[in-house]
Amino acid sequence: MQKARGRFQIRRSDGAWFLFLPKRLTEDSGFPFEKGERVKVAFSEDALIARKFIQRIQCSFCLADDAAKLVRTNLDGTAHYICEKCDEEFDE
Ligand SMILES: [Zn+2]
Repeated sequence: MQKARGRFQIRRSDGAWFLFLPKRLTEDSGFPFEKGERVKVAFSEDALIARKFIQRIQCSFCLADDAAKLVRTNLDGTAHYICEKCDEEFDE
C-alpha cells in the first residue's frame, strides 16, 4: 500500500468537498484510478474508502445489454464507455 498525505481543501457552495491527492501517489504505477473516473465512496470511523464504480449500459454498436462499461467521465461531462463484447468505445 502506498501512502501520502491528502487534504480536503475546497468546499463548494453546494456543500461538495474535494479531496486532493499528491501527484506522487496518483502517478504511482499501482494507483488504480484514472482522472475523471467515478468511484463509490464510503466512510467508517476515521477511514474513507474509494472503490471503482462499474456502471454498465447497452452498447451503442452491437446493442448488447449491459455490455458497455463506464471507464471515465470526460471533461465536458459526457461518459466514456468501452464494450466488453465488441471492444468499441463511445461517449454518451
Ligand atoms: Zn458492443
